[in-house]
Amino acid sequence: MRRKIVAGNWKMNKSVIDAQQLMVQLLSYKNNHTPNCEVWIAPPALYLMMAKDIFEKDEIGIFAQDMSEHESGAYTGEISADMLESIDATGSLIGHSERRQYHGETDSHCNRKIKLALDKGLIPVYCNGETLEQRKAGEHFEVVKNQTEVALFTLSAEEIRKVVIAYEPVWAIGTGETASPEQAQEIHAHIRSTIAAKYGQEVADEISILYGGSVKPDNAREIFSQPDIDGGLIGGAALKLEDFSRIIEAFQS
Ligand code: PEP
Repeated sequence: MRRKIVAGNWKMNKSVIDAQQLMVQLLSYKNNHTPNCEVWIAPPALYLMMAKDIFEKDEIGIFAQDMSEHESGAYTGEISADMLESIDATGSLIGHSERRQYHGETDSHCNRKIKLALDKGLIPVYCNGETLEQRKAGEHFEVVKNQTEVALFTLSAEEIRKVVIAYEPVWAIGTGETASPEQAQEIHAHIRSTIAAKYGQEVADEISILYGGSVKPDNAREIFSQPDIDGGLIGGAALKLEDFSRIIEAFQS
């Protein structure tokens, strides 16, 4: 059975007071509801320890937004898989399109990060997706297949089962433009069949593939109802409990 997940990526938003307030609201929400999916958040790294304190019973999975491809050492500004393991974080986003766009991350970097995360028992949420130019040129299937192969195909079957993938078309992130449920479903199915071609259908069927890109309370239900979509990675709409909780509730069992 693959995991069903709604994850919030807070990006570089919120003061410590605002972050604490939203975490406390989320805790109370989680204590009073039984969602049909796991709920994860990726707050700024500075607030990860606070998140671990607030969600002391692991009510919500706690993720970094990125982690280093190096184990330790002179890498100013970075956080390591070891550090995340030492605070008992759940995992890390890896290869988010904003990391690719502003920090030159490639799928080879992602591959090294994913391996390190898995070695430390962290869940890597590997993000991929095509740009607008690539979609307009009809290259989206090829691009996403290639990303998936470079980032993941050095893993063993045992390792890849633990990876969560987030398909996030770059043209839909933070733009208000969402892939239609059909557009998202066909790429999710394509990612799954790419994995099945190498690791077999049984392994591919176990991997959760989330959709990300302008998911909102009013479009979440239709997106989540697609057979190969196992939840969402939510940016802007994860910053307010009202929107995020409505997206969580859009997840039908
Ligand atoms: C994201 O940053 O992963 C994302 C999907 O953002 P948004 O929901 O704001 O498009």
